[in-house]
Amino acid sequence: MTARYCVVGGGISGLVAAYRLRVTAGPDASITVFDPADRLGGVLRTEQIGNQPVDVGAEAFVARRPEVPALLAELGLGARQVGTTGVRPLIYSEGRLHPMPQGTLQGIPAHAESMTGLVDAAVEARIADEPARPFAWRPGADPSVADVVGDRFGDQVVARSVDPLLAGVYAGSAATIGLRSAVPTLAAALDSGAPNLTEAVRRALPPPLTGSVFGAISGGYRVVIDELVARARVRWAQVAVDRVEREADGWRLIDDEGTDWNADAVVLAVPAPRLAPMVEAVAPRTAAAARRIAVASSALVVLALPGGTPLPAQSGVLAASGERLHAKAMTLTSRKWGPRGNVELVRLSFGRFGDDLARRVGDEELLEWASDDLATVFGITADPVDCRVQRWLDALPQYGPGHQGVVAELRAGLPATLAVAGGFLDGIGVPACVASGNRAAAQVSIASVAR
Ligand SMILES: Cc1cc2nc3c(=O)[nH]c(=O)nc-3n(C[C@H](O)[C@H](O)[C@H](O)COP(=O)(O)OP(=O)(O)OC[C@H]3O[C@@H](n4cnc5c(N)ncnc54)[C@H](O)[C@@H]3O)c2cc1C
Repeated sequence: MTARYCVVGGGISGLVAAYRLRVTAGPDASITVFDPADRLGGVLRTEQIGNQPVDVGAEAFVARRPEVPALLAELGLGARQVGTTGVRPLIYSEGRLHPMPQGTLQGIPAHAESMTGLVDAAVEARIADEPARPFAWRPGADPSVADVVGDRFGDQVVARSVDPLLAGVYAGSAATIGLRSAVPTLAAALDSGAPNLTEAVRRALPPPLTGSVFGAISGGYRVVIDELVARARVRWAQVAVDRVEREADGWRLIDDEGTDWNADAVVLAVPAPRLAPMVEAVAPRTAAAARRIAVASSALVVLALPGGTPLPAQSGVLAASGERLHAKAMTLTSRKWGPRGNVELVRLSFGRFGDDLARRVGDEELLEWASDDLATVFGITADPVDCRVQRWLDALPQYGPGHQGVVAELRAGLPATLAVAGGFLDGIGVPACVASGNRAAAQVSIASVAR
């Protein structure tokens, strides 16, 4: 009998799962991907701006992790991987630009000197003194990053060094993100008996890299999405799935037009807020756990400035929390990844967990904010020749304290032939999403064979 698979959600997590199912289940398997969006790829979305392909969602991946390079090689796209030019980002704090501190772990210093200029002298002295103060750590604990770093090094380190990085990754802050998710190697160093935070950071710091920390795809993530879709040979049902019900021989999916779809096994690769109502009837524990994962929204503005507009020789700037700036980050794309066409590309992102900016603020105002911030921070006043506003609503899961426990509970509530994948599970980045898609496909293909 032909195996019938349904994959709900056509972002990178769902598409990797679909591709992997095709590889393992063979040409005859029926694989349907459900996604109501105007195109597949979810947060991986490439647009033409200033006649150049520009990623308006995720733009990069951590090159040290193996998943994306391995996938690119498998898809015959290895030559498409590009690295950064090597220029460094800045931090905007107290209305001034500072070099990004070196030798930190997500902005958490291993030496007081790495914070020189960014924090007050008294804070520097406090960091230097940290190993001398009594320290207690309960192995397995998962406090917020702010609880640990604020207590040991002070709030300025949190606001000016750690928050800018966590706002960039999660649209969250040190107060909303758990230490174990943000810096797993630091949690491991503490668990294994590091006597203080300074020593734990030193033990957890990875060896210096020779190549680029980040990779990107020449031509944009669209290239990967198109190849996955072509190789997975899926049927795309451009509808939203409302709920999943149990059938005698598998599953029934009911879409938002009231149509029923049947499957032997299902991969659910939708964001956590969409997952909860979908599985309420068949996996209530999973639904309850998914509801505990909070999400943030973000808005992106990409500007194509006239070719030759002078951009500083940095990759961009991250804003400390509490600055009088609208954007939380600006990427000087043409500097970070190298020149492209006859335009200078810049990308600004707005919105943090707890604000409703990405929903509330109109395009015109966002474009004005982008121009104002570029002028304030870099003195750039050129009018763009092209621009794009892209909103990502509820797209950024918050890895709060205890997140791994929530995910373990979420997975434990699932029957064997229902699997989950997505950026809210084992890591928000694209590499972790690829891993989650692979894992989900392996789970349901084994389970449906064993059934
Ligand atoms: C602005 C932004 C920038 C980022 N930058 C980076 C970066 O540079 N590097 C990096 O590694 N990571 C980055 N990330 C994180 C990473 O991009 C995401 O975690 C990842 O792309 C999520 O993929 P996904 O497939 O899990 O989810 P999504 O891409 O959100 O896909 C889920 C899909 O499910 C569909 N869907 C929703 N409801 C239903 C339903 N009821 N039925 C059917 N389909 C449904 C949606 O339409 C969507 O296409 C960024 C995230 C954001 C938001």
